[in-house]
Amino acid sequence: MLGVARKLFRLFGLIRQLPEAEPFVDRLRRASRTTLLWLLITELLEIIQIYPLKFFIDGIADGRGSNYLAGVVVVMFGVDVFVRIAANFMHRARHRIDFQQYILLLGYGHTKQMTMDVAWHMEHGTNEKESLIGKNLEKIDNLVSGILYQGIPLTIRVTLTFIVLAIIGPIFCLLAVLCVGGFVIVTGINRPKIRALAQDFHVDWREMNERGTELSTKARSIKQFGIEAAVAKEYRHFLESCYQKDVSRNAMWRRIQRRPEYVLMTAFIAMYGLLAYVFSDGSQIGTVVLTSTWVARIFINLYQFREVQRNIDEGTSALDDYIDLLSTTPDIRQPDGPIIPPHPSGQISLQQVSFCYPGNHEPTLVDLDLVIEAHTTVALVGPSGGGKSTVVSLLTREVDPTSGQVIIDGVNLRSYDYDYLRQKTVGIVAQDVQLMDMSLADNIRLGWRHAPMELVQQAAERAYADNFITKLADGYDTRIGENGVRLSGGQKQRIAIARALLRRPKILILDEATSALDAHSQRHIQATVDREIAARESTVIVIAHRLSTVRSADVVVYMEDGRIVERGSHDELMELDGHYAAMVKAEIGQHLD
Ligand code: ADP
Repeated sequence: MLGVARKLFRLFGLIRQLPEAEPFVDRLRRASRTTLLWLLITELLEIIQIYPLKFFIDGIADGRGSNYLAGVVVVMFGVDVFVRIAANFMHRARHRIDFQQYILLLGYGHTKQMTMDVAWHMEHGTNEKESLIGKNLEKIDNLVSGILYQGIPLTIRVTLTFIVLAIIGPIFCLLAVLCVGGFVIVTGINRPKIRALAQDFHVDWREMNERGTELSTKARSIKQFGIEAAVAKEYRHFLESCYQKDVSRNAMWRRIQRRPEYVLMTAFIAMYGLLAYVFSDGSQIGTVVLTSTWVARIFINLYQFREVQRNIDEGTSALDDYIDLLSTTPDIRQPDGPIIPPHPSGQISLQQVSFCYPGNHEPTLVDLDLVIEAHTTVALVGPSGGGKSTVVSLLTREVDPTSGQVIIDGVNLRSYDYDYLRQKTVGIVAQDVQLMDMSLADNIRLGWRHAPMELVQQAAERAYADNFITKLADGYDTRIGENGVRLSGGQKQRIAIARALLRRPKILILDEATSALDAHSQRHIQATVDREIAARESTVIVIAHRLSTVRSADVVVYMEDGRIVERGSHDELMELDGHYAAMVKAEIGQHLD
């Protein structure tokens, strides 16, 4: 229990360091103190409540008469009233802890995940992340309940009982210590095995949930291929194998847990034997009954605690996952002494930039040198896998170069104000647009939550989105469903463009939509891109798939195998008659990628 308590302290210590968490963790701490106080009072009163039993038994033995006995019973019930009142306060305080820890872990678990590096998100798939927060939280919740409702009350009860027994007479205390001590020692010896079983179960349980979540999230693709039955069967087989493993794990668990049970039973018998031996003359009969009642209560609680122990063990593995998450600091974050360039214009310079994805053997980018002047347009072209998207990831600081420097307006991105970079400097329209289940206006406002409506409309007009939005029954207030399911691919793309334009970024990055779009949508998006290029308000970087876009760019950069192979205007590169010209000729007017 001490180990778990240490982990809980560490977990909430980590949460305390997160933004604005301090008051909430402090509130939790206050609630914990209040709960502990009321638990102490309740347990003490419960011990005191039984104390008149001694007088009751001695009264019967001495034949003190019914008035005396009735008086003792009234005192016992009188104390019970105070027990109920204290228990009521204790339950209220305990419930507060329950809910506060839940919302703290839920809130900060998700917000911490959000701040993790892109590399972390790639390593931990959606399903894993989902179960890391949602399912683990259930387990931690059970663990906290186990500790709050069983662990701590039991510890207090044992300690107080021992103290009271020591006051009554050392022989009674010694008896209790011997009985409980044996149980605690055997349980302690069993701990590593029990923990290993719980950890083993946790691994299976995590996979069970992750695979289950994948079935729900990928339901559309599964149905499209008509493989529901096969996939369901596979999953059921997997669950069956987990069940079989759990049956043998459970048998082992029962075997291990039997040992402390035997100790407890032996201790129980030994206690009565000793009491009979020491007090066989009939003296102190009341004290004997009182002691055995107190100790029997502890025994019952110890039995119950063994069941909760399982929740605590399983919750501990979930706790470890959570601590791992919260103690991981993202590599890419706001630097110390962040710099905002005094005159931001959107000039970009890559100097000897190389980059290798973690786990890859070959670098994705090799010694890139590239200067992009402010207010110009650069088209990145070349075969798939050439490294174009990775260049974009460097500019938005989703990744940092392995060597070399990425500089915007004279400031190395490692020193550049990270928030300013993403909020003001760079606006990106990715190919896989992510939309939120909220209104169209709020989706456009994503990067500027309180943008005035007229600016939202202006941005939508510039992105050629206004015409379709105004035709909808609820116009800008239309809710678009999860990830914009109620919109076509082209409409989503236009909302994404409006969203990027709203903030008037110094650098606009467009990953051109491909053939997934219908001709009508393509025309609209093409018109938007052309207009932005012509406006020269921002530096525009396009991962270009259309010849018309490439033609209007000031500079075309042809990339292959992570290297810049050719650069120049469209005409210059055509004249060069190299890789770019070959690509254009091969796919004239179609998709360049
Ligand atoms: P392009 O945009 O030109 O198609 P990318 O920048 O997407 O090229 O990819 C360049 C190379 O980097 C490819 O070989 C790809 O497999 C690899 N790559 C891209 N993303 C990752 C990643 N997250 N982890 C490992 N390798 C990656």
